[in-house]
Amino acid sequence: MTDDPELWFDPAKCLIEGKWVAPASGEELPLNNPSTGERIGSIARGRAADIDAAVAAAHSAGQGAWGRTTAVERGRFLFRLRELVLEKVEHLARIEALDVGKPLKQARADAIALARYLEFYGGAADKLHGETIPYLDGYTVYTLREPYGVTAHIVPWNYPMQIIGRSVGAALATGNACVLKPAEDACLTALAFADLAIKAGLPDGVLNVVPGLGAEAGAALAAHPGVQHVSFTGSVAAGVQVQTAAARNVVPVTLELGGKSPQLVFKDADIDAALPFLVNAGIQNAGQTCSASSRILVQRSLHDQVVERMAERYAALRVGPALADLDVGPLISARQQGIVSSFLDRGDDLEKAAEGDFHNAPEGGNYVRPTLFADVPPAHTLARDEIFGPVQVVIPFDDEDEAAAIANGTDYGLVASIWTRDGARQMRLARKIRSGQVFINNYGAGGGVELPFGGIGKSGHGREKGFEALYGFTTLKTVAAFHG
Ligand code: NAD
Repeated sequence: MTDDPELWFDPAKCLIEGKWVAPASGEELPLNNPSTGERIGSIARGRAADIDAAVAAAHSAGQGAWGRTTAVERGRFLFRLRELVLEKVEHLARIEALDVGKPLKQARADAIALARYLEFYGGAADKLHGETIPYLDGYTVYTLREPYGVTAHIVPWNYPMQIIGRSVGAALATGNACVLKPAEDACLTALAFADLAIKAGLPDGVLNVVPGLGAEAGAALAAHPGVQHVSFTGSVAAGVQVQTAAARNVVPVTLELGGKSPQLVFKDADIDAALPFLVNAGIQNAGQTCSASSRILVQRSLHDQVVERMAERYAALRVGPALADLDVGPLISARQQGIVSSFLDRGDDLEKAAEGDFHNAPEGGNYVRPTLFADVPPAHTLARDEIFGPVQVVIPFDDEDEAAAIANGTDYGLVASIWTRDGARQMRLARKIRSGQVFINNYGAGGGVELPFGGIGKSGHGREKGFEALYGFTTLKTVAAFHG
């Protein structure tokens, strides 16, 4: 392991029943630094046996003291964990930058967001109420929101801290016991988070972490009969496998999948206000963001002006190692670099409007140049398929109907934004666009943890974040008492 940043936990271990243990097979996977391409250590290669042990530990914890905690106690635990996360923000940010390759400021924002999730769900834990329902004479009827029991959390590599915060945070607030399977390409902050949870006083077995491959540890967890709810964030292909496996056990699944999210720019928009969002939403985390805005739809008379002004920003983008804290870091892996490069090759027939530049980017790192394409037909593969890299296409449109048709013209529906000063158009399009979130004259609204998030179509189903996640991680029981 490199000595910067220092890890205070063993990255080659799993956390099962409150103890750091090597996987049963003793096998390890490489831990790579995306900024240099170098191997810098090892992580555990958890498999079905480790998942069995983790699910059993979670089940016992749920049956034990954790199952008897009050909501206010769980909230206080999350507040204590938040304090520990805040004390370690810089450290967590450096670990994440090293592991994921994201510029340090973006990793720092993720660590702060994790703390904010813990604050939100800590505060919400004791505010989740059931209802009383007026019914027949002689009855009192009420509802109880109860935890599922053992919840599985399968997390990708692009925003580990944020996704753990929104999913594990909400599951713990509602009294579930969790098994977390972080991504094989970036699991360090999941382990760090678990270590802090123990230090914050979480009883043994309430949170278990088993790193490993998707096809091994991930598949074993999704299919495990001892799991009562699965939260999956990742690709469509893996999401389909996870949902299929969970269906055999008849357990609910939340799928947060990909996107091809558009921003619609009308000729009456405030272009100066829009410009930073148009570009940043595409290149943040090197475009490896489920809610990245990879399509910019621009009213035709504005097309050339918007392209020119976006191109100026692209020309100023500096691409380099995560700890240099520039605008764009490397992609997560050589594999991802290959996928994005092959999309760029398929854009050879398009007008390339601009590219970003490398700044002391080490030879072996997984870098690609951020690239902007102009005047792209909506049917082109670069305008329809999720690339998951710093690549944006600008698509011209003539009127509102055409803009809506193009916006809705992919398999995805995660987020969208509308830039116009026309209030009636804002309202019409907010209804017409098929998407889990719609932003008006902004993009992302600062990522607020309060805002329910999730997709429709191939972007998935179910909602995380906000209060909505607390409903998602609980099951509703109706109690009807006859007392005459
Ligand atoms: P991925 O699906 O390959 O991996 C995600 C996680 O699932 C990893 O932990 C992986 O080990 C696990 N996994 C893989 N195959 C599995 C299987 N068969 N059974 C169980 N688990 C399995 O995705 P990725 O390449 O890591 O992430 C990129 C994708 O994730 C993109 O499509 C992106 O849009 C999506 N994503 C969506 C959101 C969101 O909130 N909607 C957030 C981040 C990423």
